[in-house]
Parts: sequence; structure tokens; C-alpha cells
Amino acid sequence: MRNLIRQVLKEYTDQPLNELAKTNRLIVLDVDDTLLKPSGVYIYRKLPTDPQEITLTPYEYGLEQVTPETKKYYDYRDFIDPVKTQKSIEQAEPIVTNLAVMDDYLKMGHQIAILTARSNEQIVFDGLKKWLMYKDRKGNLIPIGDRLTRENVFAVNDVNRMETLESETDYEKKAEIMEKLLHGYDEIVFIDDDMKNIKQMRMLKRDLPNILAKKLFIMHAKE
Ligand SMILES: [Mg+2]
Repeated sequence: MRNLIRQVLKEYTDQPLNELAKTNRLIVLDVDDTLLKPSGVYIYRKLPTDPQEITLTPYEYGLEQVTPETKKYYDYRDFIDPVKTQKSIEQAEPIVTNLAVMDDYLKMGHQIAILTARSNEQIVFDGLKKWLMYKDRKGNLIPIGDRLTRENVFAVNDVNRMETLESETDYEKKAEIMEKLLHGYDEIVFIDDDMKNIKQMRMLKRDLPNILAKKLFIMHAKE
């Protein structure tokens, strides 16, 4: 009997039991240019100074100085398109250095959350559920499975999600969600490639009461 239990446990998990222990720590990851290089989705810019529409990759868009005043000159049509959204994740190139950081935190028992400027929250969740893998202690690649839950996926430009948010810019929306999350966790590690998001999180950390601020760790994603 004991052997059977041991065998069943072994089948269900290759992880040491301390990895499975429920912890109240969270790693919050951006998607584009953090977890993956998206394929086939662009942002289109037509500022009053642009003679014609300019096509930007998500990475190039991350370098733009988008403000509440200039946001209207950007067109996010590829990110609204459900088929393009799905393909952009399923056919994406993984960013191994940041995935390795994610693996390390998962090994320490952190839960995982996604905080992205995308729309189509449900499709982003479905796509990541299929695409995202992590490495266990033995180095085996394992589908993310139950370690990614629907309620921990936040796409701040999703139509329904936006209704719950007061902020206007993507970086403010991300900080608004982070502030709410900090009330529910003992530690949150935030990883994002975009300096605007990093700066906004640093401002949030600076402005929050110490009891919340000390839980937040901010990390710039590697390229
Ligand atoms: Mg990004």
C-alpha cells in the first residue's frame, strides 16, 4: 500500500513536496518581449507628424513615449483580432532567459500571474495555457498546467477588464492591478521589459504604505 501511494505521488509530481506547498507569493509576468517574442502582431502609429501610418513591432512600441494625450494616435487592431492574438502566442518564440527566471521562482513555490497590455484576456489565457512550459528541478520541460489560473491573467486592454479599471495608459493600468494584488499576497515579483511599466511600478512602490511597498520586487526583463 505504502509503495502504491509513493508510486502514485511520484507519477503526479516529479517536484519535491516543498514545491507543491501553497505559498502566498506571486511572480507577475508581462507577455510580449518578456515571456515571448510575439509573431505577426503590430501596433500602428499615425501621429499628426507622421506623413503615413507607421508599423511598429511590440518591442518598438515599448520604446514609444505614449501618454494619455497621444494614445489616440495608436491603432491596436492586431491585438483586438482574436485569430491574430491566438497565433501570435502559439507561434511565438520563447525568451529563454526570462523563462529561466520564471522557473526559478516556480521552484521556490511562487504562483504565477500574467499582466499584459493585450486585449482578449480569455484568448491570451488559452494561448499561454497551450504554449507556456517550465523546467522542473531535473530540467524536464513541463506544460504550465494548473500553475496558471484564469483569475491570475490580467489583460489590461480587454474590454471587460477595462471596465474594472480607472487608469488610462497601459502602465497606469498595470500599476492599478498591482496595487490590488499586493493586498492579497505576502510577496510579489514583477517582471516586465518595458521601462515605462518599470518606472510606474517604482512610483507605486514609493507611494504605497510601507506594509504594501515592502512586498513588491521589481525586475527588468532581459532581452
Ligand atoms: Mg512587454
